[in-house]
Amino acid sequence: MVETNLILLGPPGAGKGTQAERLQADFALAHISTGDMLRAQVARGTALGQEAQKYMNAGELVPDEVIVGMIAERIDQQDAREGFLLDGFPRNTSQADALAATLANSGRRITAALLIDVPDDEVVRRLTGRRVCLKSGHVYHVELDPPKREDVCDQDGSRLIQRDDDKEQTIRRRLEVYAHQTAPLIDYYENAGLLRRFDGRRDPNEVHDHIRATVATLRMEEEL
Ligand SMILES: [Zn+2]
Repeated sequence: MVETNLILLGPPGAGKGTQAERLQADFALAHISTGDMLRAQVARGTALGQEAQKYMNAGELVPDEVIVGMIAERIDQQDAREGFLLDGFPRNTSQADALAATLANSGRRITAALLIDVPDDEVVRRLTGRRVCLKSGHVYHVELDPPKREDVCDQDGSRLIQRDDDKEQTIRRRLEVYAHQTAPLIDYYENAGLLRRFDGRRDPNEVHDHIRATVATLRMEEEL
């Protein structure tokens, strides 16, 4: 059985969550999101979870070795033995090195790093257009999915607001952090011959078709 071990890269607003869900279903991959995993380990009170909790309680970033330890344990679990999709990890090239070393120890490796590319202005357009209803959190988009009446929820008539997270200044700051963290990773996987780029400006269905075809081809090549 061929393993398919994928890394998902892309800016906020690129639709990584949607693509991850679909790829997980297409190829029966374990979808491993660092954020979800941290919360789960803390909730279960594992040794790693307790370690992570100490840093979070102190308002500090959880150090690389703790995150890497969690990932190493997670990708060794049964449901990830035939393939996984990493979302939110690695965040830097030293984490990428640690991941490669961990995999190599058990004769495994990364199949590809998938980059969903979206220009900054498009990310800003997508995210600043979001409006959320105050009462129930129904989500709209001023251009892509507008309510029938401006700033009023179709479903419950409550007022629509723009969350602070969706304001342009916040988004530009997140994009700067993303560029700073991810640019070296893109080079890293490019140099390793593992990077595959996808045009995230396209319709999510098209992006999905393109990624699925690429991954299917990689799997066939591995089987030869
Ligand atoms: Zn509503």
